[in-house]
Amino acid sequence: LWHRCLTRLEDELPSQQFNMWIRPLQVAASADGAELTLFAPNRFVVDWVRDKYLERISEVLSELQTGPLPQLRLEVGSSRSRTTVVPLRPAEATPGAAATATPPSPQPMAQDSDSRAVPADLGGARKHRSNLNTGFTFSTFVEGKSNRMAAAAAQQVAENPASHGYNPLLLYGGVGLGKTHLMHAVGNELLRRNPNAKVVYLHSERFVADMISALRNKTINEFKRFYRSVDALLIDDIQFFAGKEQSQEEFFHTFNALLENGQQIILTCDKFPKEVDGLEERLKSRFGWGLSQPMEPPELETRVAILKKKAEEARVDLPNDAAFFIAQRIRSNVRELEGALRRVIAHVRFTGAQIDIGLIKEALKDLIALQARQISIDNIQRIVAEYYKIKITDLLSPRRTRSVARPRQISMALAKELTSHSLPEIGENFGGRDHTTVLHACRKVKELRESNPEIEEDYQNLLRTLTS
Ligand code: ADP
Ligand code: MG
Repeated sequence: LWHRCLTRLEDELPSQQFNMWIRPLQVAASADGAELTLFAPNRFVVDWVRDKYLERISEVLSELQTGPLPQLRLEVGSSRSRTTVVPLRPAEATPGAAATATPPSPQPMAQDSDSRAVPADLGGARKHRSNLNTGFTFSTFVEGKSNRMAAAAAQQVAENPASHGYNPLLLYGGVGLGKTHLMHAVGNELLRRNPNAKVVYLHSERFVADMISALRNKTINEFKRFYRSVDALLIDDIQFFAGKEQSQEEFFHTFNALLENGQQIILTCDKFPKEVDGLEERLKSRFGWGLSQPMEPPELETRVAILKKKAEEARVDLPNDAAFFIAQRIRSNVRELEGALRRVIAHVRFTGAQIDIGLIKEALKDLIALQARQISIDNIQRIVAEYYKIKITDLLSPRRTRSVARPRQISMALAKELTSHSLPEIGENFGGRDHTTVLHACRKVKELRESNPEIEEDYQNLLRTLTS
């Protein structure tokens, strides 16, 4: 489980962060599996990980876990020797804590001792429990230009589930933009309107894992019956189905059965499904049968509104200028925004001071520094073109004359050094060049800088301009 969690975090986090904070963690599970302890090399790492990553770790674990979520602990030491025990206070004083830190529980699938994945409620007379995150509702979701259409579609589905044209509902977009939140909001609203509805949420990775164990344990029929018995099936991050042919096959049948029976399906994906490699064509086209809504990164006003709302939920007074100050600096997604606010609030609680710009600068100093250092390829191209007095389009063009080829190579080398883009991505940004061209450019520039003082000076000048 930890291993899969690591793989996921490695995908999500910038590699430098991952290698620095997450990779060194050691893990030990208690004999009964009820506790999972992460060991960090020292107190500092413990604090840092707890502050910045723990909530996400527990989220990922809860998405990957079949059965009850183990209690997470974070300690100084190694998996062999224990030293200080640092009890975890799972994000008690944080905004939206209910929304993010609480793993969806109870789980719909229980794992019995022989680890057969059996739907917990199968045939049970009890009212169905749901594994929705009750903090993710429409009322805690802030609407703005970037998500208004998606929110409206979600609201429609919640009001008229399985109506023609709205099934499946597919929400797609980058990480941290509220796809999972909106999906749960629909589920919660369906349940509010009909407490007997059977609403099942699960991450597609768990669908895959559960299916595999059902096949192994010859419980595939129960598996099928369970998923076909729901009123609404919420499957998160369907990009994880890519390349998993058998799961796609099974999901395809489940999907059809549900659609035919007038049961609602809600899906999320990190991009438009047609663009997911390794997803069968028939699934791609089927996903598009209902309503697909993109979710975009929130604009400044929405980011401010989200901050204000989350601060209010945490009963903290966040003045407008302070909200703007944060929103202007944290632009990527809502998850990052929440993380920043959480740190500001922790700082407030710790120091007892009022929130003002000074306090925010202090609380977020490393984040802000990181942000400032974030240099884009566009930026590099603009500065290099200016420096060599050529046009940006020359950098992207196929022209090979020395006067443009050299600056182009230098920009590529700078992009490699200063951004976290991969070689293929850099090539793509230079008029669709191949990654080998970029690699060649980097080597060439390295060689030139060593042999030609003029080029070394140019390079240093450019570095200075870009990083100051
Ligand atoms: P995704 O599934 O797109 O990666 P999530 O739904 O997990 O993103 O959202 C990340 C975090 O940001 C969650 O805590 C969620 O509650 C919060 N969030 C995202 N969008 C909004 C919004 N519009 N209003 C309030 N909170 C939001
Ligand atoms: Mg999500």
